[in-house]
Amino acid sequence: MKNDIEDKILASYVGFAIGDALGATTEFMTPREVASDYGVHDKIIGGGWLKLKPGRVTDDTEMSLALGESIIQSGGFNLHSVGDHYVTWMRSKPVDIGSTVRKGVRDYMLKGVTEQPESDMAAGNGAAMRNLPLVIYCLKKWGYFEQMTRLQSHLTHNNKKSDLITLCFGEMTKIMLETGDKLKALKLANRLIKINPKFSYSRYRGEASGYIVDTFKTVMHHFSDSTSFEETLVRVVNQGGDADTNGAIAGMLAGALYGYDSIPTKWTKKIDQKVLRDIEKQTKKLLELPVRYNDEISNCEST
Ligand code: MN
Ligand code: MN
Repeated sequence: MKNDIEDKILASYVGFAIGDALGATTEFMTPREVASDYGVHDKIIGGGWLKLKPGRVTDDTEMSLALGESIIQSGGFNLHSVGDHYVTWMRSKPVDIGSTVRKGVRDYMLKGVTEQPESDMAAGNGAAMRNLPLVIYCLKKWGYFEQMTRLQSHLTHNNKKSDLITLCFGEMTKIMLETGDKLKALKLANRLIKINPKFSYSRYRGEASGYIVDTFKTVMHHFSDSTSFEETLVRVVNQGGDADTNGAIAGMLAGALYGYDSIPTKWTKKIDQKVLRDIEKQTKKLLELPVRYNDEISNCEST
């Protein structure tokens, strides 16, 4: 039987994939369009602008799995391996790929660029949407989380807001996995808002685009006001906009807080079962693997 924290870690990753699959149906819609087409959208039925099969996940979950796989195959974090895994994913003709991600992965593939120049244009949520494997991997040695997060992010998104929010989501997830304390996680977000008042979600007006600050507001507004996994996700994906990515990140937080039993079985049954198994396998391995940079491996093994 899984212990409590492992149960919540798995719930966080599975919750992420479920948010992706559920939200893909309403991506780029307005809340009014969602309401007129679905009433309340709360079933994994696929469709959407990508015309997905029910249960199919998108780039958010696929890039997360690529990052996790890179860490496992390298026996540690290696930026070139991360880049290589993103290239392999891009070559697999993914059902969706963002323009900033495509540019970054292409620059790595063609020119070996591992760090994009800092840019205001790179304030999309494309780095935040794939960072969960690093949260899981770094739980044992949290000191590595910030730098590894920045490195993997900057392959495509080198932007201060993206960094701050990606790190904040990761820290919040860790806090809830370890303590189950939602208030403590919300306080951490509030500290970030104090320094960056534009991140405030206290007067949320439905801004749900793929801009990282909108993602932060959407996820935080609905996560803070909800009392269950299901409520959190249903609220976020009915907001439309970047519903799959916002749903995925909300699922990551809500899974970490509420645990596996809180995920409705109507959703775990519908989600792509291969993805579910990959997530289970990957989570287990990420938890076992020592936290290190790949170039530390030889030192470790010779001693
Ligand atoms: Mn997506
Ligand atoms: Mn999206």
